[in-house]
Amino acid sequence: MRAVAIKKGQSREKAAAFQDMGTLRCDGCGEEFVIAHQPASADKWVADQQAHWLEKVLAEEHERDKKHPDRIELPD
Ligand SMILES: [Zn+2]
Repeated sequence: MRAVAIKKGQSREKAAAFQDMGTLRCDGCGEEFVIAHQPASADKWVADQQAHWLEKVLAEEHERDKKHPDRIELPD
């Protein structure tokens, strides 16, 4: 796991060493997710792409009436 989105207010545990790359707010419910990268592979451009991807995933979850997980693994 190189990149993960963590719901704000959730424990960071295994992602404690990860570097915050930005926050994405869900349009549907206003919940915020912190995008975190391993420092060795931290990349702002990749984080921007992942933010777009996450936005769609969160919107889909609302369409299917699914609850957002506390932690979402992000594609590279
Ligand atoms: Zn939402």
